[in-house]
Amino acid sequence: MDRQQEFVLRTIEERDVRFVRLWFTDVVGSLKSVALAPAEVEGVFNEGLGFDGSSIEGLSRVFESDMLLKPDPSSFQILPWRGEEEPTSRMFCDILTPDQEPAAGDPRNVLRRQLDVAGEMGFTCYTHPEIEFYVLESQDLDADGAPIPVDRAGYFDHVTGSVSQDFRRHTVNMLEAVGISVEFSHHEAGPGQNEIDLRYADALTTADNIMTFRTVIKEVAIMQGKYASFMPKPFSEHPGSGMHTHFGLFEGDTNAFFAPNTEYNLSTTARQFIAGVLRHAPEFTAVTNQFVNSYKRLWGGGEAPSHVSWGHNNRSALVRVPLYKPTKGGSARVEFRGIDSGANPYLAYAAVLGAGLKGIREGYELMEPVGEDVWSLTTSERKALGIKPLPGTLHEALRQMEDSELMAEILGEQVLENFLRNKQQEWDEYRVNVSPFEIKRYLGLI
Ligand code: GLN
Ligand code: MG
Ligand code: MG
Ligand code: MG
Repeated sequence: MDRQQEFVLRTIEERDVRFVRLWFTDVVGSLKSVALAPAEVEGVFNEGLGFDGSSIEGLSRVFESDMLLKPDPSSFQILPWRGEEEPTSRMFCDILTPDQEPAAGDPRNVLRRQLDVAGEMGFTCYTHPEIEFYVLESQDLDADGAPIPVDRAGYFDHVTGSVSQDFRRHTVNMLEAVGISVEFSHHEAGPGQNEIDLRYADALTTADNIMTFRTVIKEVAIMQGKYASFMPKPFSEHPGSGMHTHFGLFEGDTNAFFAPNTEYNLSTTARQFIAGVLRHAPEFTAVTNQFVNSYKRLWGGGEAPSHVSWGHNNRSALVRVPLYKPTKGGSARVEFRGIDSGANPYLAYAAVLGAGLKGIREGYELMEPVGEDVWSLTTSERKALGIKPLPGTLHEALRQMEDSELMAEILGEQVLENFLRNKQQEWDEYRVNVSPFEIKRYLGLI
């Protein structure tokens, strides 16, 4: 029993915790939970909790289905939304095989492995996500089959007494109560659309925080009689929900991305990192944008990136290097704008980080930054500037991913195979589905 485990046991006793939930994530990023009686926790710390891994999407095959959950005591938290009467807590878990090896199919382990690769190169990876989502009246649709947003406000609008404002205040309090610090929150451009930005943390903590965040948002919405959705593009005519993430690599206390008196204060390491992310982005888009619907965001405007480019102050770029005032001197970070709010954060962060590290290892050259709006260029202008498109559909993204050596390396053969199988099935179902768009367009015409 280590000190963190002892702390958890003591807290459970002192706070009279009634349920301890063990949380983990399947291959598409759905949160899984099993509740434990407090008396069982010590035994589970020692031996793990056995469960049937073959019933979890993409985790293991039927003939090797026994798996163990190993709670990470550093992630212990009381869950405030369950109320004071029967305190409930949770811990994130690593998944182990029966012989106590990390399970190849565990997304958290995929990210851990990539953080180890970074560690061997001398880097710690910090991330800061900007999470966008819509708050809707309910899951019901209007007469045209569209969701119903809670307001008609726009970017940074302050609406006195509005649902969104109340909603953000509640969630920020709730997040702080589970130890997640919020940096900014504001109304986004779409009606009912909001954004909450979490403070910088190491990448594994951030991914855990995102899983908790999604649960908190959904719980608060339900408490207010509303419904929150992280769907990448719920409205054809309004912007989608992105999860832009700022990446930083540190060597000890030193920001490895920062070099004074260079273009945008970017070190060679930062330039190579960006070059790696850009070169491999089409191969990992299936992970950062994993749903059929994700491609409606990428290609539907609303400041979502559709092409591979980088820039300083350019909202159409896939990678942006934000501007810092001199008072913030010494700072440099790389914002990746491709990820959407429906991504599995463990796999998405492993992919972006892995691609960036490869750029550093192999000393990739960075293309010229693009100052113009990429959408307004013609195809031949883009070609002349070396700006390639991202995959246009989930199908295309899967084809690029299955040929990628880098993705096999980052995800491991098993996760890659499970992911491709799951997503191919989604595409196949979509492909044969006749949509309202087609009925409207063709029935009266042909
Ligand atoms: N909603 C946009 C996206 O999908 C981002 C808009 C913004 O934050 N500037 O990426
Ligand atoms: Mg933002
Ligand atoms: Mg935003
Ligand atoms: Mg941003």
